[in-house]
Amino acid sequence: MLNEKLHSYIDGLISERNPLLTEMENYASVHNVPIMELSGIETMLQLLRIHRTERILEVGTAIGYSALRMADALPKAHIVTIERDVERLQLAEEFIQRSEHRNQITLIQGDALEVEDAVKEHASFDAIFIDAAKGQYKKFFEIYSKYLSDDGMIITDNVLFKGLVAEPEIETKRIRNLVKKIDEFNHWLMSHPGYHSVILPVGDGVAISKRRGESI
Ligand code: SAH
Ligand code: MG
Repeated sequence: MLNEKLHSYIDGLISERNPLLTEMENYASVHNVPIMELSGIETMLQLLRIHRTERILEVGTAIGYSALRMADALPKAHIVTIERDVERLQLAEEFIQRSEHRNQITLIQGDALEVEDAVKEHASFDAIFIDAAKGQYKKFFEIYSKYLSDDGMIITDNVLFKGLVAEPEIETKRIRNLVKKIDEFNHWLMSHPGYHSVILPVGDGVAISKRRGESI
């Protein structure tokens, strides 16, 4: 990973977000909502722009910050986003209603492991963004990659988990188990016969997966 100084330098060059997004960033910071880190989200948005993405599925809405960032960066895009926490989804709804992007975002309430039928109606997707319970990444990937368009990409956040994936010894059992799950996911993903993947050491670690051509 880049060192702290360089991270702050880069973050300092990123222009301010609009007042609503800034309010959401502050809310997330005060209430410990794990929204995507700045350098991670900027990287993802740039990839989505290059890819000219129009149909996006997000697993893990939280308060709607990343969904709104995507809607803002990609005026033609539509985002379907899943959140199981009712209170967070309610907040997301309120923030989205206050934005100019309410028509670009469809919220689905429920556990992503259980709402496949509702999501399916909106398929296919040019991009799928996985940013929910870290222990379930493989399941999310397996369920929703079925609805990825042929040239689509899957973006997975937090694959380096604050650098802990590279730590040999972790004290807390819960964290150790979670790190093990992420590490297993990373190995599984990087050797998946159906996808080319790369892990970028930006933000909290972002994996980009692209379907392999006809070769599978
Ligand atoms: N993408 C958001 C942050 C998401 S934080 C952003 O960057 O702005 C992760 C969210 O995933 C949490 O709000 C959590 O409630 C939700 N989540 C975790 N597991 C889930 C599941 N199985 N189904 C749906 N949502 C889930
Ligand atoms: Mg995340």
